[in-house]
Amino acid sequence: MERCRQLWTCFAIFLAIFWIPIFGTPLPNVDEQRAWQFLVQQVQFGPRVPNSEAIRKTRQLISRTLAESGCTTSSQIFRAYAPLLRTDLEGINIIGLMPAKADKAAVVLSAHYDTRPHADRDPNPLRRKEPIPGANDGASGVAVLLAVAEALSRTPPPRPVAFVFFDLEDCGEPSDERGFCLGSRFLAANPPPHLADFEVGINLDMVGKKDLRLRMELYSLRAASEEVRTLWEIGARNAPEIFVKQQGVAIYDDHIPFLERGKKFINVIDFDYPQWHTTDDSVEQCSSKSLKVVGDTLLQYLFQ
Ligand SMILES: [Zn+2]
Repeated sequence: MERCRQLWTCFAIFLAIFWIPIFGTPLPNVDEQRAWQFLVQQVQFGPRVPNSEAIRKTRQLISRTLAESGCTTSSQIFRAYAPLLRTDLEGINIIGLMPAKADKAAVVLSAHYDTRPHADRDPNPLRRKEPIPGANDGASGVAVLLAVAEALSRTPPPRPVAFVFFDLEDCGEPSDERGFCLGSRFLAANPPPHLADFEVGINLDMVGKKDLRLRMELYSLRAASEEVRTLWEIGARNAPEIFVKQQGVAIYDDHIPFLERGKKFINVIDFDYPQWHTTDDSVEQCSSKSLKVVGDTLLQYLFQ
């Protein structure tokens, strides 16, 4: 009898420990060190400017991580005129669909992976033709998305998700915003079948700086008010100092080509960044905590 009671006690303890793994689905969360590693790795490749070895390595990193996380991956090649470099360029958008057997994405998560070829806002005029390191403007959004993909490989999302990595976002001239966002414009105009009718998109840009402050970007707020407010509600529960429930400024970014087509697309960005388009957009300006909070907020949004 005593032995029987001991067995029951052991069984009860086993259940208490393994209840969630067996019976419930714990929310996935981002591995902060992995997210940070993805950011540093991209910066170490060098500036991800058109036709560089660094951008080729970044494409490999993205495709490999998506595939290892259980996505079907594809790419979309396009040509476009890049005003900053005054030439036609080939760009490649990279797409990962999860789960692999899904035929249509319900949610799109996106970021651009190219970096600006000229630091045209550098305080030193002699450095304005140099490329930017793009730790925040380029690497941060990609790092969060890759870490989110890895988290979802352990706990599949309730709705199919597409990860989209845009090329040629940052080759415009400041005088004409339509020279920016060439990859997203091509994809919005030529969506592959599995991206033809998604419900909502979320774009990440410049989400890695220390003391990140994300306000609700104005174009997003006008086009997808409910979705924006839900995302910020979730984010503010994680870190109210980062997801600030206030209206922000309007920013032309990779969500605009989709908004112009009547899609709901949210842009998550902190545009208050003195190192923007300078040679000082470096790893030292960034923080792993910022990446973690943004990634966890995306995951919780997917599982709400
Ligand atoms: Zn930029």
